[in-house]
Amino acid sequence: MRVYVAGNIVVDETWSINDLPQKGASIHGVKTSQDIGGKGANQAIVISRCGIETRLIAATGNDSNGAFIRQQIAHEALTLSPESYLTTHSDTSIILNSSDGDNAIITTTAAADALTLEKMLPYLADAQPGDILLQQGNFSLEKTRALFIWAKANGLITVFNPSPVNADFAQLWPLIDIAVVNQLEAELLRPAGVNHLVITQGAQGAWLITDHEKCFSPASTVRAVDSTGAGDTFLGVMLASALLRGMPPDELALQHASLAAAITVSRVGTVNAFPTQQELAALLATRSA
Ligand code: ATP
Repeated sequence: MRVYVAGNIVVDETWSINDLPQKGASIHGVKTSQDIGGKGANQAIVISRCGIETRLIAATGNDSNGAFIRQQIAHEALTLSPESYLTTHSDTSIILNSSDGDNAIITTTAAADALTLEKMLPYLADAQPGDILLQQGNFSLEKTRALFIWAKANGLITVFNPSPVNADFAQLWPLIDIAVVNQLEAELLRPAGVNHLVITQGAQGAWLITDHEKCFSPASTVRAVDSTGAGDTFLGVMLASALLRGMPPDELALQHASLAAAITVSRVGTVNAFPTQQELAALLATRSA
């Protein structure tokens, strides 16, 4: 059983500046970190660190950020396709943090947009019925829908995390087996007819709603320093916990996910903050539900 993640991979560059620039301004800043990110990559990394065979289908560009992405992904137990570059530049997020605690983020999507359905399908050719196709909200409605239709026609289990949110994604629920949404996405998209619906509620915890049960799993208490990537960690571990036990998402999967997300929020960064393989193995061995 394999998980295919079709989504984006970006380089997150964090800059510290005095104040957000005005129109026409030229300012100084300090680059404080560079990490790989993007919801597709984040979730694929977490799932693969749990010991699940993971294929990330995400586009990179022919630039130094593309080389950086490949160098970083080489440390992870997953495959990244396509191997060739689709655009001149890799997708990048510039995160500007001002001294008063405000921020502004600029994100490019050209590489993700260049990854058409036709370019993705060859990397799904060896998918078997029962494998998982996981998508986030970084592709257009049409591309996201076409890939889920292909997945259902080929017997794959479909998992959707509609973030960044787009109101039109509400049309996709009939194609989805497992949905993971935060509170805002749940209110906007009103997921219906999904076999397993998980609604995360930040520091409070998460709900699992199925045809026959509704259970709440509280978040783990932790000193939170940076919540970036909490949702991606939660989703990846919830899915992996269930898959490793041959189960659909259940209460134990939510508990494992909460423990893992608490590790992520207790550290600064995105991929750098994610639990390691060793931490995940120890956490997934707990059986407290
Ligand atoms: P993000 O976009 O910030 O990655 P999200 O909005 O998709 O996150 P949230 O509902 O904020 O998702 O958080 C997902 C899970 O992460 C929660 O269900 C919880 O288990 C954990 N979590 C988030 N914030 C905290 C916190 N402050 N303390 C402990 N756990 C947290």
